[in-house]
Amino acid sequence: MQSITLLGATGSIGVSTLDVVARHPDRYRIHALTAHTRVAELAVQCEQFRPAFAVVATAAAAEELSALLKNKGLSTEVAYGEQALCDVASAAECTTVMAAIVGAAGLRPTLAAARAGKKVLLANKEALVMSGALFMDAIAASGATLLPIDSEHNAIFQCLPLGYQRTPQAHGIRKILLTASGGPFLDRDVATLDEVTPEQAVAHPNWSMGRKISVDSATMMNKGLEVIEAHWLFGAQPDQIEVVIHPQSVIHSMVSYADGSVLAQLGNPDMRTPIAHALAYPDRIDSGVDPIDLARIAQLNFREPDYLRFPCLKLAFDALHAGGSAPAVLNAANEIAVEAFLDRVIGFRKIPQVIEQVMNRLPNVPVDDLDSLLLQDQRARSVARELLT
Ligand code: NAD
Ligand code: MG
Repeated sequence: MQSITLLGATGSIGVSTLDVVARHPDRYRIHALTAHTRVAELAVQCEQFRPAFAVVATAAAAEELSALLKNKGLSTEVAYGEQALCDVASAAECTTVMAAIVGAAGLRPTLAAARAGKKVLLANKEALVMSGALFMDAIAASGATLLPIDSEHNAIFQCLPLGYQRTPQAHGIRKILLTASGGPFLDRDVATLDEVTPEQAVAHPNWSMGRKISVDSATMMNKGLEVIEAHWLFGAQPDQIEVVIHPQSVIHSMVSYADGSVLAQLGNPDMRTPIAHALAYPDRIDSGVDPIDLARIAQLNFREPDYLRFPCLKLAFDALHAGGSAPAVLNAANEIAVEAFLDRVIGFRKIPQVIEQVMNRLPNVPVDDLDSLLLQDQRARSVARELLT
């Protein structure tokens, strides 16, 4: 029986995870559920899954949640704040941690799970992009298991040989082919991109996701973060990772081998598939996702990404090449720019401009420990905020 701490339970990945968990009460139980502000939704989830702990952001939210749970007659213990997130992610009673908080806010609790040797199911790509070697070293040192939830990385994982050791060459791997839908603005006239609204940007053609990752998909920063994520997860160098636009989102990614074979993983665009895969690995369980209907899909298309349309993708490759603090700076500047776009403070095309300016302004420095990493993250955020005013 796996005992799960679900970080970010009220989000898109969180809800999909609970949907899979509910199908297999014989395999999984919930140790802790966490949410930022959506207290009422969290209370409903607690009623259904009866966790030992529930964690929210503030004392006020904790008080509100406690009252709701008391009314329902539940004995779930309520806590709040970042340390409480780290505590439930590293608790002895928990075997498995789903890291599904969005953005840098998920770094410390995800790292806590890694250090505690948990089975870490990683959706929170920003945490890995920021902390890179630090995170992978923590996994190795504790003997934790790291399984990717991001659909592309989960697909790649499924296409890699058993016992893969983070060295593509040693396994006859030529390239990792990371597929990208191209988002809602793939065919829109670039000159009109400054007119797009947050509502248009978050309306993804294939996937239903949180707002931040939806905007990242529209700018293709999401794919850029995923390139960096693939580098750390699979030990692939930047020139071993190729982004391919595939508008149908049926092939979730591919691995190209030296003998000319290309292995792909296909499925409907529904995150319950990678979630179920990682939860049950190496078993296979029902996820609630229907099989694909190839005749209905009829065709699969591919094209090269265009850096003029998607400058964020280029910025992410640049950050990966630069190493050091560059990926963390890229991520922090992106989080601030995306928030400003969603708040209608800046236009869509300003997002890559802000990120590029922040990256140019801040010197690249080594980030060997968590404190220096968080310092660079904070610096990048304040420079980005200055650029918005
Ligand atoms: P979401 O916005 O729907 O949910 C985010 C969750 O994190 C919520 O439960 C929220 O309460 C919590 N949260 C937000 N800010 C927080 C903070 N400061 N402190 C603590 N908790 C906080 O996001 P999502 O779409 O579920 O994405 C979650 C992560 O998974 C992201 O890193 C995203 O890139 C990744 N991911 C998502 C998808 C998807 O299909 N949604 C696919 C691949 C990867
Ligand atoms: Mg993805």
